[in-house]
Amino acid sequence: MDVLPDKTTLRAWLASRSDRYRVLVPTMGALHRGHTSLFERAREQSARRDGEVIASIFVNPTQFGPGEDFSAYPRPLEADLETCRAHGVNAVFVPGTGDMYSEDRSITIAESRLSKTLCGASRPGHFDGVCTVVAKLFLLTQPAAAVFGQKDFQQLTVIRRLVRDLDFPIEIVGAPTIREADGLALSSRNAYLTPEQRVQAPLLHRALVNTARGITEGLLATPAAAREAFVAAFAEATLARPDYFEIVDTTTLECLESFGGAEPRLLAAAFFGTTRLIDNVGLS
Ligand code: AMP
Repeated sequence: MDVLPDKTTLRAWLASRSDRYRVLVPTMGALHRGHTSLFERAREQSARRDGEVIASIFVNPTQFGPGEDFSAYPRPLEADLETCRAHGVNAVFVPGTGDMYSEDRSITIAESRLSKTLCGASRPGHFDGVCTVVAKLFLLTQPAAAVFGQKDFQQLTVIRRLVRDLDFPIEIVGAPTIREADGLALSSRNAYLTPEQRVQAPLLHRALVNTARGITEGLLATPAAAREAFVAAFAEATLARPDYFEIVDTTTLECLESFGGAEPRLLAAAFFGTTRLIDNVGLS
């Protein structure tokens, strides 16, 4: 596995293999089974074309708001490189902040529709930071495809829009959410939870699943009824401060007024102390 610590090394590496089918998996590191499932997915995808997998590890400052956990975000680089190696990643791009962003940078990508609700409402500027860094990673690593987790469903939707609106010739692959046995979606931020919060954290997923089941079985006929059911179910998480619960159209992320026609997705976020957890489910 090649470790590429800066853009110059990356470009030299690319020049030696420019015609290969390449699949990118962007991450912020602190890798867990959620990330490695993306590596596996990327490997399957690339193996069909005799291609290769490139991962990136970069804790992107421009997607963190003031008071968020940018400085505290875990950065276990050696362990992460070992994880990449063990999962058949061919190269890892690990740039420094100064390499990615000039001090006097003045151009960013702004998303003006999909990122105003859900996580975007409580994290202004977050998705502009995501779009900007992902666009830079696309331009730098020149992949034919890139894999993102459905765990960050709004992010996946925004990236699909980024690729569509800016004509990146890149296939975006959405991979399913990997969970603990009790349903909690794996996240680098789960490590911040106290033991008491950790016990209650799976209630976020359970409330989503129960609400989705109620909709599928016809017991919750309207989004308003579904919201009430979610709020009642999640009230069991006494240590949580709910941030949002929304039922949206899977493609546009617009809130649904009724269940006719659209493909609904249920998304929720909640704070346990200062730790913000997100999750989402579709209707099965
Ligand atoms: P992050 O390192 O948090 O920026 O995440 C990098 C990628 O891993 C994103 O595409 C996430 O959606 C994905 N990811 C994070 N957690 C999970 C999970 N539990 N299951 C599947 N994908 C995940």
